Amino acid sequence: MITPTTTPTQPTPLLSADVIAARVRELGQAITRDYRDRDLAIVAVLSGAFVFASDLVRAIDLPLTVDFLGVRSYGDATSSSGVVQITHDIARSVENRDVLLVEDIVDTGLTVRFLIDTLKTRSPRSLALASLLHKPSRTRAAVDIAYLGFTIDDVFVVGYGLDHAQRHRNLPYLGVITADRPYT
Ligand code: 5GP
Repeated sequence: MITPTTTPTQPTPLLSADVIAARVRELGQAITRDYRDRDLAIVAVLSGAFVFASDLVRAIDLPLTVDFLGVRSYGDATSSSGVVQITHDIARSVENRDVLLVEDIVDTGLTVRFLIDTLKTRSPRSLALASLLHKPSRTRAAVDIAYLGFTIDDVFVVGYGLDHAQRHRNLPYLGVITADRPYT
């Protein structure tokens, strides 16, 4: 008999696709309530938030625009230096608009802190954050997450848009990589 083997990098399921979908629907409903009669500009952070953002915008029943902000904060070595580089800027002005920044995960908080400070200089009418995940035990920068999917422990997660060395983004669920702690 052939026994299936798992590789050391096989993610261990943490949050199923169904659980994620239900939570994203709830967040979409909350945003729909809060942003009625406002001028909603979604700014999604690439690359990790692309799956979350695409599901979230379809759960929001309001007129909105979607733009993308590419950043590099973790390379393949995956350690947070706090130095964030914008690799792709938003294409449209957010001046006087109600910006909702959509991020995959708040870990140390340094990336989001930098992005919020950067977007504030663009004179939005309001600026709030939606994040799929938060690791409070690692967070060093004060960050207010208005719309949070899930709080998780200090583990390295992949799937649903999140990668490890550019892999696993297409997993429909969120899983934990346990074999090697891929960041410090
Ligand atoms: P922070 O600046 O908050 O430390 O890190 C934010 C970025 O680090 C996230 O946008 C994400 O790209 C990456 N990151 C932090 N924790 C994880 C994790 O558990 N899994 C993955 N795939 N990326 C993470």
